[in-house]
Amino acid sequence: MVKVVKFGGSSLASAEQFKKVADIIHADEARRFVVPSAPGKRFDDDTKVTDMLYECYAAASKGKDYKSILQKIKDRYNEIISELGLSINLEKEFDIMEACFIGKAGRDYAASRGEHLNGMVLADYLGYEFIDAAEVIFFDDNGSFDADRTNEILAARLENVENAVIPGFYGSMPNDTIKTFSRGGSDVTGSIVAKAVRADLYENWTDVSGFLIADPRVIDNPKVIKTITYKELRELSYMGATVLHEDAIFPVRKEGIPINIKNTNAPDDEGTMIVESTSKKPDYTITGIAGKRGFTAVSIEKDMMNLELGFGRKILEVFEKNGLSFEHMPSGIDTMSIIVQQSEFEKTEQEVLAGIHRNTQPDSIEIESDIALIAVVGRGMKSTRGTAGRIFSALAHAHVNVKMIDQGSSELNIIIGVKDEDFEKALTAIYDIFVTARV
Ligand code: ASP
Repeated sequence: MVKVVKFGGSSLASAEQFKKVADIIHADEARRFVVPSAPGKRFDDDTKVTDMLYECYAAASKGKDYKSILQKIKDRYNEIISELGLSINLEKEFDIMEACFIGKAGRDYAASRGEHLNGMVLADYLGYEFIDAAEVIFFDDNGSFDADRTNEILAARLENVENAVIPGFYGSMPNDTIKTFSRGGSDVTGSIVAKAVRADLYENWTDVSGFLIADPRVIDNPKVIKTITYKELRELSYMGATVLHEDAIFPVRKEGIPINIKNTNAPDDEGTMIVESTSKKPDYTITGIAGKRGFTAVSIEKDMMNLELGFGRKILEVFEKNGLSFEHMPSGIDTMSIIVQQSEFEKTEQEVLAGIHRNTQPDSIEIESDIALIAVVGRGMKSTRGTAGRIFSALAHAHVNVKMIDQGSSELNIIIGVKDEDFEKALTAIYDIFVTARV
């Protein structure tokens, strides 16, 4: 059994957290490959080391004063090192880093040092080999992740290694400069390593006990999702539920390696298993609910629209030409609505309206803003009758007016549009009917 374990920034924010991480790793021999983030926040108002590095680099590369922020970065590491009683000394590394900042080695290089240095400290603490991600994770000339080259070299490099720490978040370009993934990208590194060693499991350790059925800022103490499929996860993430970097799914998914989201501060909690498919029945009919505010519905009406060949294309062409991607497109016989992101739509609103008039001569165009979309997601919905009925009666009881309904063809989700002001009421009503009432 081989497990790849990735620890997020809050799991490695202090010496105390490092100790928890080491206990977790030592508790299971299968946890052979470790991917750390940079030290994150120790408390709410704290600053992540990654953010300090960006700030420090911005100052140093512009010839401004960077010394005090650099000192704070050094202090974060030195505090961890001394509290753990380690003898590793990062002074040389700090000197190289400072010189590279002044020499304008790039923002990505700067940010990557957070993981690099943390990886060195963790490897020392665990007694594991340290493998610089720049030597095993590659990007191509366009800056896209080079999956094939990485997998070949990384798999060969790790083949005869018993235990190693590979820092997350970065790799190297063909010209040997450093490039990072987007923010939160250590999740992606973990997934890449899991694929390369053909792990049985990719454990992603963070500070929550898994994916929650609904947003805890809206629902008090929501239940944890025990098992979720990649497709369900994608639906929920798209609607704003975040725990895992979106790109972290691809490498392991292809190999059929499940991901287990676990809590460093509560290691005995089961967490959430993310799997390709499962015969396990979800605890509730729905797996999760997520939503986003700030959409606009552009509704176009034209008599006999249904007979006009190419009508839909002509409308969508206008949105495309204005650089707008649409979220949903519910349609009737003589009406069609295009749902777009309000902030984007506002930029080219008049051009879009003029374009629609020009292209299709509609009878009317109506615009409704401040719409929230809610996705009710669940593989269990396919085989359960009456899910939609239950959702809409719950919303009616909560006095929420439904503006739009869209059921994905996979029967995996039902998307509901409500007014922004009804968002929380709607989410609560749906959560209550399926989870609190346990149906
Ligand atoms: N340290 C990086 C960030 O803050 C990457 C990560 O934590 O995954 O975004």
